[in-house]
Amino acid sequence: MTKTIFEKSINGMTGVSLSEEEITPDFLPRQFLRTDTPELPQVSEIEAMRHFKELSDKNFCVESGLYPLGSCTMKYNPKVNEYLASSEGFTNLHPMQCDDDAQGALELMYKLQEALKKITGMDAMTLHGSAGAHGELCGMMIVKHYFKVNNLPERKKVIIPDSAHGTNPASAGMCGFEVVKVNSNEKGQVDVEHLKALFDGNKGKIAAVMMTNPNTLGLFEEKISDIAAIAHENGALLYYDGANLNAIMGITTPRKMGFDIVHLNLHKTFATPHGGGGPGAGPVGVVESLKEFLPVPVIDFNGEKYIRKYDLKNTIGKIKEFQGNFGVLVKAYTYILMKGDALKQASQDAVLNANYLKEKLKKYYDLPYDCTCMHEFVLSGDRQKAKGVHTLEIAKRLMDYRFHPPTVYFPLIVSEAMMIEPTETESKDRLDDFAQAMIEIAQEVEQNPQNILSAPHNAPVKRVDETNAARHLDLKKEDKECTNTTLK
Ligand SMILES: *Cc1c(COP(=O)(O)O)cnc(C)c1O
Repeated sequence: MTKTIFEKSINGMTGVSLSEEEITPDFLPRQFLRTDTPELPQVSEIEAMRHFKELSDKNFCVESGLYPLGSCTMKYNPKVNEYLASSEGFTNLHPMQCDDDAQGALELMYKLQEALKKITGMDAMTLHGSAGAHGELCGMMIVKHYFKVNNLPERKKVIIPDSAHGTNPASAGMCGFEVVKVNSNEKGQVDVEHLKALFDGNKGKIAAVMMTNPNTLGLFEEKISDIAAIAHENGALLYYDGANLNAIMGITTPRKMGFDIVHLNLHKTFATPHGGGGPGAGPVGVVESLKEFLPVPVIDFNGEKYIRKYDLKNTIGKIKEFQGNFGVLVKAYTYILMKGDALKQASQDAVLNANYLKEKLKKYYDLPYDCTCMHEFVLSGDRQKAKGVHTLEIAKRLMDYRFHPPTVYFPLIVSEAMMIEPTETESKDRLDDFAQAMIEIAQEVEQNPQNILSAPHNAPVKRVDETNAARHLDLKKEDKECTNTTLK
């Protein structure tokens, strides 16, 4: 067991020496200074460095290796994004400074809004949402308010495909909508006949259809124009979950497909590290008729300067303090400027990479929807399950090969699902390495399944007893041995 930094602490040991003035800053009144010393580990600089290095070694990130976590678009995050987001002009700006003092930041947000309008085809944009799910909530609040203002409060239902990401029904539900499920057909796409039947059976009651395209199976919804027409003929709005924009940006737009409201996940499509729930951004775009419903303030340009505008007639109000996660906005804008027209290339490469991997792996794993995919594809581990090895175990075994596992057990309509999204970042060599690992695991299922069932073998945390961990969670480290099988 490695020692914690507290166990390495030696009384009186320090990593730095500071003068009296540095320890006692003159801008703080004396009575507010603490008198006792904080209970921090006392270690040398090298021990502090080792501590943080050890922690970072336990983490797996895009910089460690291929991270094919489907639906999450874990692409490389160019370091220039971080460099610019940490510029003093941005980090030292107070969110309550007046518009005149914040012209640079406002200009950046305005220009990002304009870029995202172009990429999505929408007429107006807010940058406030702090994640995809938060953008969904904002979008659904707009839908709700729109029908309220138009005296149609009986539109209380939202149609969502059975393949949808869990946040879609959750966001609709949080806004008080009743969720109606539309089935997928044998091609893995929305069953248009079923959709029609749902509209017919719920005349005047459907507020919106909420979809993503490509869908969570990584398949393009070919009937999207028909779906949009059906929704609009019935007076409903069409909501676009933009988490999968990485397959289509620069090629088509949600607007062309007929969507009225769009959220984007800047932390997916436009490169921001977002493992572990780090800050994200979920801007929302709308068509002209919904412009007045956006949350306030919106960023505008009055011909002279950039301003925060509050007087929107039907605004849903505020959904987030200040301007959202500004640092993520800086990173997204940097990424967009850097790529320019090559955003399209990023989508094309992402789609090519996914299809390449799919073709290499389909002999070894079941592929429920065997057709050209977009930026990701979904395998089924049913064949391996029949031999006693579940998808979860395949995921754990992959870690031994220094790959992050794909998304597993989602979407729910594929049994033993493995959702693989390589992104545009990976070279053919890396894709081949990953395919090789997946193939070796498939062969191991036949020859030596026991080796998979005890994986991972060389990860910092071995197989934990998940039941025990859930029932008897004990996160305190005492002087007791940690075994491989119980999480203590
Ligand atoms: C990631 C994702 C979401 C939710 O976005 P967050 O930014 O994680 O809140 C919604 N829908 C789909 C399809 C997603 O992949």
